[in-house]
Amino acid sequence: MMQKNSRPGAGTAYATTSRSNNSPVDAVLHRLDRAKRTAPDRWIARCPAHDDRRPSLSVRETEDGTVLLHCFAGCGVQDITAALGLSASDLYPPSDRYTVTNTGPMTRIVDYKTALLGIHTEAVVVASAAVALANGEALDESAVERLLTAEERISDAISVAGGGL
Ligand SMILES: [Zn+2]
Repeated sequence: MMQKNSRPGAGTAYATTSRSNNSPVDAVLHRLDRAKRTAPDRWIARCPAHDDRRPSLSVRETEDGTVLLHCFAGCGVQDITAALGLSASDLYPPSDRYTVTNTGPMTRIVDYKTALLGIHTEAVVVASAAVALANGEALDESAVERLLTAEERISDAISVAGGGL
């Protein structure tokens, strides 16, 4: 028998768990609009990165505490975390965020990886704007804003990686 799900649901779908408040999944669920638990390690919520009428964001917590986000409308993880006011590294448990070692170059491996993934997402944004411009399309205000956001996020990724501009 599973003990931890035996309390009747009250309030938000995950409020009955006894996990710590510092886990990545809590950070995500606290910021989501009415996350609904569908399994012990799964939730569904409205995606904050697009105009979501019905819940299309799947949230999953892996055994090591990493949060997997998937929007069925196709939003990128970077867009979802940014809309939540989080960074991609917030999806990893703290023990993974900083590899415990004194050998310098081995530290913060996961941050490098998430930073690179983030840069890739932003590069795709910039590339699609370049294609639009090449086709003679005008960029509207929101597209320009998004490109400026891309630059900001790449700068953020550089600082996550321990560099500065
Ligand atoms: Zn979405």
